[in-house]
Amino acid sequence: VKALVLDSGRLALRDQPTPVPGPGEALIRVAMAGVCNTDLEIARGYMNFSGVLGHELCGVIEACPDPRFAGRRVAGEINLSCGRCEQCARGLARHCPQRTVMGIAGKDGCFAEYVTPPMTNLHTLPEELSDERACFVEPAAAAFEVLEQVMVLSRDRVAVLGDGKLGLLIAQVLESTGCALTLVGNHARKLELARQAGITTAEIGSLARKSFDVVVEATGSPTGLHAAVELVRPRGTVVLKSTYHGKLELDAAPLVIDEITVVGSRCGPFERAIPALASGLVRPDALIDAIVPLVRAESAFERAAQPGALKVLLDMRAESVG
Ligand SMILES: [Zn+2]
Ligand SMILES: [Zn+2]
Repeated sequence: VKALVLDSGRLALRDQPTPVPGPGEALIRVAMAGVCNTDLEIARGYMNFSGVLGHELCGVIEACPDPRFAGRRVAGEINLSCGRCEQCARGLARHCPQRTVMGIAGKDGCFAEYVTPPMTNLHTLPEELSDERACFVEPAAAAFEVLEQVMVLSRDRVAVLGDGKLGLLIAQVLESTGCALTLVGNHARKLELARQAGITTAEIGSLARKSFDVVVEATGSPTGLHAAVELVRPRGTVVLKSTYHGKLELDAAPLVIDEITVVGSRCGPFERAIPALASGLVRPDALIDAIVPLVRAESAFERAAQPGALKVLLDMRAESVG
């Protein structure tokens, strides 16, 4: 079966044997998968990963330990935890020190015709949620994680920095709290998409320093944190969402002087993302730039890496050979 493999820093579409599920795992026939900035960073060396890329997944269970679940359409969480350690016992399985992460660390991902996540990672999708939209469950869950970590009140002034795929999703999720939200970016086309979704937008230069209660940094760039610290008010909160290959230089003095809370934020609750996408509270359609068959995965990656690109989806439905 076909899979997009990263090997010693090189991406190539390969023919591989169908993966064999381990204990507790399901064999998923992938329907569609989303290319995310993390994938682009991994291809550049972030996480030192080799194997099949991809972690934003929608597919159908073809085989699994419990036959009642066969045939279900699912999305899959990305962290594979041990289930026995202290973090897992505390309900923090996403922080299990033994974890592997699908398509990111130690576990093959979903840019392939088949993938084998554990059953416990799978969430059944409602019929009204299309395959295309279901590819956004994982990133939308990451957007909802901000609300799991930070109390956002309707009187709060909130800025989301970054008008990329994740920033646009986070803006839609935070907008649903009724807070005074501003999406900050510098791509005219993306800011226009946000305005069409009813979101207030601004360019960074037009904003007063120290004027926001909460600033979410989703620029994907090491310069984003500095900009976020400039915008947040004393005693405010900065949420860091970007992952990138490389380190940033940080002047910590403003954090101390203004007593700023910095919150790192990663994966989030699928239980909140699935109904939000199914009901249209989060509307990702305008974020889809291209849908590319798996056989052209390498060009899909090039497309996704172009400056200003939004979401590229890989479509495995066309070439399934059974
Ligand atoms: Zn992702
Ligand atoms: Zn564990």
